[in-house]
Amino acid sequence: MKFKLHLMKKYSVLFFAIFLISSTTAQELSHSHLSNRKIEFPDIKGYNTLICDFHQHTVFSDGSVWPDIRVQESLRDGLDAISITEHLEYQPHKEDIPHKDRNRAYQIALNEAKNHDLIVVSGSEITRSMPPGHSNAIFISDANKLLKEDPIAVFKEAKVQGAFVFWNHPNWISHVKDGVAKLNPIHKQLLKDNLLHGIEVVNEKTYSDEALQIALDYDLTIMGTSDIHGLVDWLFEIPEGGHRPVTLVFAKDKTENSIREALFEKRTVVYFNNLLIGREKYLKPLILESLKVLEAKYIGKSKVLSVTVENNSDVDYQLINNSKYSFHRNSDIVVFKAHSTSELEVKTLEIVRSVDIEFEVLNAVLAPNTHPKINLKIEII
Ligand SMILES: [Zn+2]
Ligand SMILES: [Zn+2]
Repeated sequence: MKFKLHLMKKYSVLFFAIFLISSTTAQELSHSHLSNRKIEFPDIKGYNTLICDFHQHTVFSDGSVWPDIRVQESLRDGLDAISITEHLEYQPHKEDIPHKDRNRAYQIALNEAKNHDLIVVSGSEITRSMPPGHSNAIFISDANKLLKEDPIAVFKEAKVQGAFVFWNHPNWISHVKDGVAKLNPIHKQLLKDNLLHGIEVVNEKTYSDEALQIALDYDLTIMGTSDIHGLVDWLFEIPEGGHRPVTLVFAKDKTENSIREALFEKRTVVYFNNLLIGREKYLKPLILESLKVLEAKYIGKSKVLSVTVENNSDVDYQLINNSKYSFHRNSDIVVFKAHSTSELEVKTLEIVRSVDIEFEVLNAVLAPNTHPKINLKIEII
C-alpha cells in the first residue's frame, strides 16, 4: 500500500511535468505563425474562395500513404476540396496491394471525409508518355472505364462522364528536357475537340511561365497542385511555415457542382510559395479583399498621413509604390505581412479627405513578367 502511494506520487509528478511541457509548447506555438497551418484567403464579391488540391497520390498508384492520410492532411491544411488522382497506367504497388476497382482510393477517401467539412472529388491521372503526357480527369463517374489503349479514347470517355480535364506538369523535365511547356499537335487536337480544359501552371515545387502563357492563349483554366506522393509536411516543410500549392476556386457555393462549374468557367487563382497566379479579374479582387484600410489619420498637426492596413490573407504582399507620393517609413517597397496589420505613412503634401495609392503587386502574376496594379483607397475621417 505504502509502495503504491509512493508510486502514485511519483507518477503524478511525472504527469505534472508532462502537462507543463505540453502547455508551454502549445502556448509558444499559439504566438507564432506556425500555430495555424490552415490556408486562409478571403471570399471575393459573389463567390466563396475555396482552397483546393486536385492532384494527389496514395498507395493505390505510386504514393506512399493510405487515402485516409490524404484526407487528414487536407483537413489540417484547411482545404475545402481535394481529389485523389491515381495513375491509371502506372501501378507499382499492384502486387502488394491488389485492387480490381480503380475507384477504391476515392471511395476510401470519401468515407474518411464523410464526417468532415471536406469535399472529395473523384479523379484519375491519365499517364502517357509525351505527347500527350499526363492529365488529370476529375469529376469522373467510373475510373475503370478510363482504362483504354488509345489515349484519345480515354479523353473521350472522360468527356462522356462529364469530367474536367487538365494537363499535368507540362514543364516536367522528364518529359521536356528544357523545362519549357509547349503544345504538341495532339494537345491542339484535344483542345480543338474540347477534351482538355485546364493546365497546371504550378506542379509540386515548380512554376511555369510558358504554361501560364498557354493557359492565356488557349483560354484554359489556371491550375496549381501539390502532386503529393509522400507526406505534405515533409515535402512542403509545413511545420517550418511552408504550404502546399493549391488552386483557389471561386465558387458560388461550397458544393461539388459549384466547384465544377467554377473550374469550367476558369474562376481560379493559384497560391504557390507566397506567389499568386491568375487572371486579373479574380487576382485583383482577391488582393483587394485581402487588404483593408482600418484607419487613416494625420499625425499631430503634420501633413503626414498614418494609414493602418490589415492583411487577412496568407500572402505577404510585396508592393512597389506607383503613386506620386513618397512614404515616411518606407522606400518605394512596402510589405504587408500575412494576417497582420501594418502602418504606412504617406506624405500627402496637403491635407486631403481621401487619397488613392497605386501599387504594383510584385508577388502576383497575371501573365509572364506582368504584375497586377491595385489602388488602395484611403478615406480620412
Ligand atoms: Zn504526373
Ligand atoms: Zn501525379
